[in-house]
Amino acid sequence: MSEENKVNNDQEAKNSTPIIEVIDAKKVYKVGNERVQALDGVSFTINKGEFCSLLGTSGSGKSTLLNIMAGIETITSGQVFIKGKEVTAMGENKLAKFRQRYLGFIFQAYNLINSMTAIENVELPLIFKEVPTSKRKKMAKEMLIKVGLEKRLTHKPTQMSGGQQQRVGIARAFVQKPEVVFADEPTGNLDSKTSKEVMGIMKQMARDNEQTIVMVTHDKEMARYADKIIEIHDGKVIDIRKGEGIVG
Ligand code: ADP
Ligand code: MG
Repeated sequence: MSEENKVNNDQEAKNSTPIIEVIDAKKVYKVGNERVQALDGVSFTINKGEFCSLLGTSGSGKSTLLNIMAGIETITSGQVFIKGKEVTAMGENKLAKFRQRYLGFIFQAYNLINSMTAIENVELPLIFKEVPTSKRKKMAKEMLIKVGLEKRLTHKPTQMSGGQQQRVGIARAFVQKPEVVFADEPTGNLDSKTSKEVMGIMKQMARDNEQTIVMVTHDKEMARYADKIIEIHDGKVIDIRKGEGIVG
């Protein structure tokens, strides 16, 4: 066993507290007279500090599952618990507060605001949390330095490469130290070298503060970075296995 794997195993033994529990999740979309069974009884747990990949081909139900876990989409039946709280039973207001307090998001298309600088984009979640301006600027700047963008602080998204924009996306997701970060195909628009860099940064960030990452991907190469791989096919879990937990 390599030193790296040994470290991962030791960490796993320490951190076997479940932070996310999905119990028999089902989702049916109705479009006209058609019913689409996007999730067909999905159950698993993710432990605190774990980096978990949800792997599957296009249309397998990954985004639906992630969005239900994050409280963005409603569930048809079943339950999702995060930190022991049933997300699938929360009303809009409670859910909004819960998301603000505990969850971060990274998107394939970065979803940055084009009229704002890198710093301003990273500040956004802190504005919602009513962090005072000077503290906010300082925190945003520190995060951007951590992701290697010290020379791009006042650049706007259109003045940056895809990889740089996703680094801003990562800085924004992690700036308020959320316990869980959800990422939907975060490297989907990036070349393979940049994808590896972005994965490395995400892992480093999460490791610094024992944060949990749930990442959706169709790409086996990216899934390997995770500690745990949950493979989905046609709305069902077909395999749960250890990832390689590649570091950076
Ligand atoms: P993935 O992210 O793995 O590509 P999705 O979760 O986006 O898969 O989709 C799973 C299935 O649910 C697909 O068959 C898709 O067409 C369907 N689906 C997703 N979102 C909707 C929606 N809003 N309305 C109807 N069907 C949907
Ligand atoms: Mg998807």
